[in-house]
Amino acid sequence: MARKYMIAGNWKMNNTAAEGVALIKDMKAQCDGKCCCCENAPEVVVCPPFTTLSAVIAEANGTPLKVGAQNIHWEEKGAYTGEISGAMLNEVGVTHVIIGHSERRQYFGETDETVNKRVKAALKHGLVCIVCIGETLAERESDQTKAVIERQVRGALADLTAEDMKNIVLAYEPVWAIGTGKVATDEQAQEVHAFVRGLLKSMFSCPCVAENTRILYGGSMKPGNAAGLLAQPDIDGGLIGGAALKAADFLAIVKSVK
Ligand code: PEP
Repeated sequence: MARKYMIAGNWKMNNTAAEGVALIKDMKAQCDGKCCCCENAPEVVVCPPFTTLSAVIAEANGTPLKVGAQNIHWEEKGAYTGEISGAMLNEVGVTHVIIGHSERRQYFGETDETVNKRVKAALKHGLVCIVCIGETLAERESDQTKAVIERQVRGALADLTAEDMKNIVLAYEPVWAIGTGKVATDEQAQEVHAFVRGLLKSMFSCPCVAENTRILYGGSMKPGNAAGLLAQPDIDGGLIGGAALKAADFLAIVKSVK
């Protein structure tokens, strides 16, 4: 079974509801139904901030565009100021959720253990998880990339079954490439993606997991570098930050999937 490409936009803390709706309208106008209709059309997801979700979901209604959140808490409810539950995300109607983004790990104390708890909560609530992994520049320079990636993958996916893995998408995002304009070369990215796929093979007895799990690349993916990255055999799409905020750039990346 061929893996369906995914292009996901992480809007981070950008776009009020009005701005988000304007961006979706712009995408619809520029796409005119063509971007998502070709034979190899990727699954396209946008992940706005929580307060923008409802308006974007309404504007995307009737299009193939899917909408995701940027975080989920593992508890059902309670005294967790600033967090959001799976039931709340179900109510608003998202289908996807980003978990363990490096900015959450770096600024908000996210650990492999809390990533795993959030993943389990998201699965319980029927959401597709886009689970982020990636090494810092210091880790790459000290030859720790594979060890870090292995720890993050094993941690995030602890206790998950092959069935659970049907709703997991991994996103390899080298921290040094996020928002910096420095992109991993096609070869650097492919090397880590192949490593992750090999790891999945060793972690799950069914070869279907390694074969079917999508692994996205993220880190300064732009219209000018997307085609080369997306042509790599183990790169199944992109998680896009900055370039997801402009309809033309985001759609150009969508159209780079061949
Ligand atoms: C991201 O934040 O997930 C990301 C990849 O950002 P950027 O594309 O801006 O590097």
